[in-house]
Amino acid sequence: MTVTSPEKAQIELRRVRKDFGSLTVIHDIDLHIEGGEFVVFVGPSGCGKSTLLRMIAGLEEVSAGDILIADKDVTDLDPSKRGIAMVFQSYALYPHMSVRENLAFGLEMAKTPKDEIDRQIKSATQILKIDALLDRRPGQLSGGQRQRVAIGRAIVRKPLAFLFDEPLSNLDAELRVSMRIEIARLHRELGNTMIYVTHDQTEAMTLADRIVVLRDGRIEQVGTPREVYEDPNNLFVAGFIGSPR
Ligand code: ADP
Ligand code: MG
Repeated sequence: MTVTSPEKAQIELRRVRKDFGSLTVIHDIDLHIEGGEFVVFVGPSGCGKSTLLRMIAGLEEVSAGDILIADKDVTDLDPSKRGIAMVFQSYALYPHMSVRENLAFGLEMAKTPKDEIDRQIKSATQILKIDALLDRRPGQLSGGQRQRVAIGRAIVRKPLAFLFDEPLSNLDAELRVSMRIEIARLHRELGNTMIYVTHDQTEAMTLADRIVVLRDGRIEQVGTPREVYEDPNNLFVAGFIGSPR
């Protein structure tokens, strides 16, 4: 595959904290993510998964701490300058634009040459098997197709890393399974660093190289799916994903 740059960005969080007013929702988190790793943030609703991801993306300011992407301190950089692309659960496609226009939009804003845009769109849509849908509008697509377009929009930007926030939670159970397999394939083919947020244990167990279990803004455990399952640090982790013991 030639879609993304071969660089594999490490991501480093150093004592990252987030306060909303007097409420601390992320407590001084340290985390190192290897280049090319698929890391899943998992935990119950409200534990801070989205906030942590949004701080990495630059959509939310940190209250304290530093964030490094590909060895560069991006803590004070705009989202567009961080080299990452984010995929949301709401597809956030432009309803009045065709699939092709949706895919091209960000690249046009960045003044990417037209032949390069065409090349990126061709490659991304082939990977995602949406090349036959380029002239449709989002309203003429199924939920799964829309989610593919949203992922395509991330791919064409050739990011160093992909950030996913519960990208499948609007899909029905059957589609979730097939899209999960697609995302795993995407990671194999592109090789980028990916951080994936979910409250779904099965998604975490099947996608992750490493799982980060969060609870009330703190990391309870970091490990491979097997480590977390077979050797949970505490009752919370055991209850959430560990094997019964
Ligand atoms: P998750 O994604 O794990 O469900 P969130 O990161 O969305 O959790 O939220 C973590 C905590 O931060 C929750 O208690 C939530 O209510 C709070 N929170 C999130 N965004 C804001 C905000 N903009 N203002 C105040 N509190 C917020
Ligand atoms: Mg969330």
